[in-house]
Amino acid sequence: MVYDAIIIGRGPAGISGAVYTTRANLSTLIIGRFDSVLLKADKVENYYGFEQPVSGKELLLAGKKQAERLGARIIDDEVVSIEKDVNFKVHCVNDSYEARTVLLATGSPVIKAPVKNLNKYEGRGVSYCTTCDGFFYRNKKVGVLGYTDYAVHEARELVPFTKDITIFTNGAPLKISDKYKDVLSQFRINEKQIKEPYGNDVIEGLILEDGSRDELNGLFVAYGSASSVSFALKMGIATDGKSIYVNEKMETNIPGLFAAGDCTGVFKQISVAVGQGAIAARSMIETVREIRKDG
Ligand SMILES: Cc1cc2nc3c(=O)[nH]c(=O)nc-3n(C[C@H](O)[C@H](O)[C@H](O)COP(=O)(O)OP(=O)(O)OC[C@H]3O[C@@H](n4cnc5c(N)ncnc54)[C@H](O)[C@@H]3O)c2cc1C
Repeated sequence: MVYDAIIIGRGPAGISGAVYTTRANLSTLIIGRFDSVLLKADKVENYYGFEQPVSGKELLLAGKKQAERLGARIIDDEVVSIEKDVNFKVHCVNDSYEARTVLLATGSPVIKAPVKNLNKYEGRGVSYCTTCDGFFYRNKKVGVLGYTDYAVHEARELVPFTKDITIFTNGAPLKISDKYKDVLSQFRINEKQIKEPYGNDVIEGLILEDGSRDELNGLFVAYGSASSVSFALKMGIATDGKSIYVNEKMETNIPGLFAAGDCTGVFKQISVAVGQGAIAARSMIETVREIRKDG
């Protein structure tokens, strides 16, 4: 099935968007984990309509029920890549889905790889985009920095280019879903803590905490889950490096792809995320109606 709208993220921005798309009769799939940053808020008292403080968790649970009552389908999964053809193909850890429009509502990218001097080699052997840079590492020795499904996904993306791939977890235990456990044998896994990368003009390897060195021609960073910025790098979505650029209709520079909430870097508050989600949804509704008219 081709959904009218896939919404990536089930925080305030994503759920608010879904409330509007479903009520406009757009088939809507929401993909995300129940891990919004709002869960950390014990007491919210600056959101409209609550006389007494309300917890972030209460708001999120109510939003989930509201979207489901209106007809949205919510699945607990993580998106690892998005492709645009005629429609969008959204690949998750467990399945893939297709849609006419997509809303990125993934919150702000929080997990930064905690490795000293990594930024020194960005663009000089350290990359955040296997799709963009994998080709430069044909038959070379590469590393993937990460410990989750996203890291395994990125390592698999590199297999057509090289078989010499090590996943560096930087001291973290691997957190991989069953689906990916079978493919791990293709890669070397190094679970040692990383001290820092070394090299001259370009990265030449990693110095590990125990003083040993691991030579590398390239290192791909895939730490935590794929963020809005990871999707942006792969798809050519315009950003300022941290946040997605959107216009007043919440459109990105890719037709049919919208963004809302903390991932746009505007005042990071629930009311803003909810408002942007609504505007994005209105634009998605217009886009889908145009497509239906043409088709
Ligand atoms: C401690 C704390 C207290 C706060 N208190 C307040 C307050 O009192 N008032 C207020 O207005 N704001 C408060 N905020 C800010 C507020 O929580 C955020 O502005 C709001 O949650 C942003 O909503 P969002 O939908 O953009 O992103 P989020 O709520 O962060 O939701 C992001 C969603 O994207 C999903 N996601 C991310 N990556 C992927 C992926 N690869 N695949 C699938 N899904 C993905 C996540 O699973 C999650 O569901 C607080 C924040 C914190 C941290």
